Amino acid sequence: MRKPTTYLLICSLCGLLVLSSEIKADEHADGQIVVVDSLLQTDPALEQQLDDILALQLTDPQAASQQLAAVLAAMQQQTPVETKVRAITYQLFNALYANDTQATEQILTKLQQFKTANLPLNARIEIQAAELEVDVIQNRLNQAYLKAEEIQAVISDISNPRIRYWVNALLGRLFRIDSQYDKALKHYDLALDALSTTSDSRQFIRRAYLSQQMAQVYAEQKNWPAAKDLLEKLYEETKRNNAESLLPDIYITLGFVLAAQQDFTAAADIYQRGLILSRKNKQQNLAITFMNNLGSIYIEHGEIAKANEIFQQALQEAEALSDEENIQLLKFNIGYAQVLAGEHEAGIAQMLDTLTFYQKRNYKPEMEDILGWLAKAYKAMGDFKMQAATLEQQMQLREEIMAAEREKNTQTLQARYDLKSQNQQITILQQQNSLQEELLKNRKLQQTITLLFVVIMLIASALLINLYRKVRKTNKKLKEVNKQLEFQSLRDPLTGLLNRRAMQEKMAARHASEEKSACGLLILDIDFFKQINDNYGHAAGDKVLIEISHRLNMLVKNDEMLIRWGGEEFLMVLDSSSCAAIDALCQRILTTISATSIMYEGKSIDVTISGGFINLPFAGVAEQQLNWERVLQIADMALYLSKVNGRNQITAIDGLTVPFAQAEPHLQSDLNGAIREKQIQYHVVNG
Ligand code: GH3
Ligand code: MG
Ligand code: MG
Repeated sequence: MRKPTTYLLICSLCGLLVLSSEIKADEHADGQIVVVDSLLQTDPALEQQLDDILALQLTDPQAASQQLAAVLAAMQQQTPVETKVRAITYQLFNALYANDTQATEQILTKLQQFKTANLPLNARIEIQAAELEVDVIQNRLNQAYLKAEEIQAVISDISNPRIRYWVNALLGRLFRIDSQYDKALKHYDLALDALSTTSDSRQFIRRAYLSQQMAQVYAEQKNWPAAKDLLEKLYEETKRNNAESLLPDIYITLGFVLAAQQDFTAAADIYQRGLILSRKNKQQNLAITFMNNLGSIYIEHGEIAKANEIFQQALQEAEALSDEENIQLLKFNIGYAQVLAGEHEAGIAQMLDTLTFYQKRNYKPEMEDILGWLAKAYKAMGDFKMQAATLEQQMQLREEIMAAEREKNTQTLQARYDLKSQNQQITILQQQNSLQEELLKNRKLQQTITLLFVVIMLIASALLINLYRKVRKTNKKLKEVNKQLEFQSLRDPLTGLLNRRAMQEKMAARHASEEKSACGLLILDIDFFKQINDNYGHAAGDKVLIEISHRLNMLVKNDEMLIRWGGEEFLMVLDSSSCAAIDALCQRILTTISATSIMYEGKSIDVTISGGFINLPFAGVAEQQLNWERVLQIADMALYLSKVNGRNQITAIDGLTVPFAQAEPHLQSDLNGAIREKQIQYHVVNG
């Protein structure tokens, strides 16, 4: 007969799957947990609906999935992300457990889109744990372990107790499957801690699940007292909570633990109860398991006939269900009972049949188990030779299994290591990429700044050049205006001739210069001009002034000056060559003015002019002593002489006959006096 461990393991697995599917849905529930610190990040109304859906999942899965669809449809843009993620995760599990790979992929992609940098940790971990569950169910354990490690690093920061419970329960189960019992127990403990902060109606079912899982771990570690203790407490609590649906699982595990402790009476009692309960609940497979387990306890007790009886009954029921695994198991156990009852040949044949069944399927662990029981059967028969041969066969198989196991372990470790380093490489590459991107961004920024700088500089230069041009233009204009102003300030507006200021400037410059070249001053005054004004009008007078100016201007050289000295007075500053031929010039002046009448509005106006001429410096007297203004006074007196002597003539002062000091008093104001005393020489040019 096969030892209880084997079939118990099979049976308990069946039972646990029943419980697990309930738990799977419930693992995710937070019931009425008040999640204080994440209140703002969830939508309480939708969260409540999701809790209700979980409860409904156990009784009416179809209605639950319809309600979930309604919740998903009700979600809006502003629905908090944690609630969104929770609802989509439930949708994911519906597809996952229904083996709908395509839908699973789609929903997974949808979930992954939430993984942005500012996603709250609770939601991020919920997504990661959901991905892990998908990996586990789709048998990508290595990926699952990698994710488990990532989750472990932040697990203590999860603030939402529902997620903390669920994630820890998930990791506990994952590490239990991988025989990493210490880690599994640690996560079950953390899951229990998370539960302790809650107080909803479903808390018990979650605790039961955790206890069951922990007992399983203890059993696998062969820590029977711990397993028994936990299961007995759970058993009591389950009864107190009237959670009958959990009992079959507890019975199976507890019976297994009691049998392992050689407490066959207690084990038989537990299996009996399990049998009664499974019959009541019409769970036929479970009933077969309990009967099988009971039979093996009877054998341990030496009650062979009783064992055979219950095996036969179980076989009938298994055959009615066409449950091939159980049929083989029961036939084998019946064979063992036969051997013990003395029906050696029939019993051994039956047992070998089962061996062949598993050999055909190459189920090595089962074969190894069967060989052990076969050896026991040969021993019971006293066939020690066959016993030895069978044990040797078993040992060979065990070696093979262990070698394969070792190989598998090494491969798994290698694969995990590869995956991890692959992931690390990806992370490094991603970091390098983002560094590269950062550098690129920096470079682009720099280029943009440089470009901006260049553009600004170009604009600034253009503006400056423009400004410079404008300034230059303005300067030019200013210069022109200044020139004009200067011109205007030195010119007489009516005749365009130089004015008194021009004369003053010229003489100031002359005074400042070292070498003062000799020149002549000829002052002219139009005769009877007042009468012209009176006879022909002021405008006619102006016209005469302009015409006379024009005529006189023809007679001076470029470097000589013609100045409008007063109303109808003109002053010529002549160079030395003109002075040398002063009489000819005076003659030309008198003729030019008088020879041609001036026409004004059809009337001809006859004009004559008178003048006085003198040299500067005068008679060798230094200009410091006798400056140009005083010299001009003498010329003015000569002009006066011309007027009184009959006009249309120019009186030229030639020089002194006496020393200047002697003549000086007369020269101040009385030219006639000087003439009288023959102190000066002069001559007259008549027109
Ligand atoms: P004389 O032969 O003694 O010089 O006689 P005159 O009439 O020329 O003498 P006076 O100096 O007394 O007269 C000058 C006149 O010239 C006085 C004034 O009205 C006139 N006059 C001065 N400036 C202007 C001017 O710009 N235009 C006109 N039409 N007349 C002027
Ligand atoms: Mg005058
Ligand atoms: Mg006059």
